[in-house]
Amino acid sequence: MKKKTFYIESLGCKVNQYESDGIAAQLEAHGFSRAGKGSPADICIVNTCAVTSRAGMQSRQETRKLIREHPDATVIVTGCHAQTDPEQFKKISGVDLIVCHQDKTLIPAYLTREPPEKNLFEFRKPEYGKTSRFLGFDRPVYGKMTRAYLKIQDGCNQFCTYCIIPYARGASVSMPFDQVMAHVSGLNRQGFKEVILTGIHTGLYGLDLKPETSLTQLVKTLDEKQPVDQIRISSIEPNEITDDLINMARPGHILCDHFHIPLQAGDNGVLSRMKRPYSVEQFSEVIHSIHATLPHAGIGLDVIMGFPGETDKAFENTYKLVAALPVSYLHVFPYSPRKGTPAWHFTPKVPSDTAKKRAALMRKLGEQKHKDFIKSNQGRILKGLIQNQRDRRTGMLKAVTTNYLTVLIKNEKDAHDTPDSLKGKIVNIKYDQCGNDNCLVGNIVP
Ligand code: SF4
Repeated sequence: MKKKTFYIESLGCKVNQYESDGIAAQLEAHGFSRAGKGSPADICIVNTCAVTSRAGMQSRQETRKLIREHPDATVIVTGCHAQTDPEQFKKISGVDLIVCHQDKTLIPAYLTREPPEKNLFEFRKPEYGKTSRFLGFDRPVYGKMTRAYLKIQDGCNQFCTYCIIPYARGASVSMPFDQVMAHVSGLNRQGFKEVILTGIHTGLYGLDLKPETSLTQLVKTLDEKQPVDQIRISSIEPNEITDDLINMARPGHILCDHFHIPLQAGDNGVLSRMKRPYSVEQFSEVIHSIHATLPHAGIGLDVIMGFPGETDKAFENTYKLVAALPVSYLHVFPYSPRKGTPAWHFTPKVPSDTAKKRAALMRKLGEQKHKDFIKSNQGRILKGLIQNQRDRRTGMLKAVTTNYLTVLIKNEKDAHDTPDSLKGKIVNIKYDQCGNDNCLVGNIVP
């Protein structure tokens, strides 16, 4: 009998991508076969995103498009937008099922019952103060990537005033400690040299477990047991970066010297209206302490431009702060109001052209910071992981360094191994060439 095919569309963040791959792996284990974009499919699944209004709109558009392209398919929607606003999807004719966040792992059970059993699902809103289970997939998910992602935490208890995520994903829950260790070892046995620990608010890892533990403790144990060559943390809040964590990113230790940290605003008034749990002074201290121990660490910041009440002076404060900090790249987002969050009601609103201008200035500053960072690494020997995918434009092998630079490899033909066997390996690299487009080209060195 011909296998039933499914197509899965994932919008938004890495965690969504991870979960989509998890659903896909489960379906494949149940005998379904994954279809590529544009190919016929019996089942279409949309894993939606709610992080901005635009992401929500794109999730709905994508759902309608898939229904048009696959008029006979069973269509299932899940993810953050489906969770926070299921009514929007009830209105779309052709949607067969809306699956709440906690039930994502039940999708194969739904599809393998004859006839499909909708009663499996009772749409639930996340609840706080109740113990909920970590939503995990049987095996870690890696897709076609060189670096494996492992989701170790989900949900958030912080309720920043602009953020819809806690309403979508509920309170923080963590993967049990032993399970993390087992997954990391398993990934290493499959040939992965680097595992990226990911989550919605990864720094809350372990606080809900019994006995309680922490992200620092987890990384410490990984550092002692070395079940894999490298660990990277996808993103971490400033107040969760401990001295021990910084020390574990020194040479010879397991953690990559790369920290992606949400700043959001560099003005204490804006930070307090956002309900971010740190001040500008505390944030600076954290960045300087990373820089003092790891002068070449990659430090990336997220910033939001145009939050309600962000005056010219407040913007200037953010700009000046970022300009003064030793950071290596910026992710800049114009503020996007989300219905259902406190900030939806905040005034005065910042006109969108002002927010765009501020975002453009900030991005320019980010480019300059990145150039300076590249320059400061020139001539150094960097540790890099050769990626499975070659650079699309040049066809050259490329490596991602521990401090998060991408370097194209020039001397692959002179290397001892055949070039393709270098994929997935950790090598020493020195780069000496930097084009105008910030594309780094370097050599593998002993
Ligand atoms: S820490 Fe704040 S921004 Fe991040 S997920 Fe939690 S509520 Fe949202």
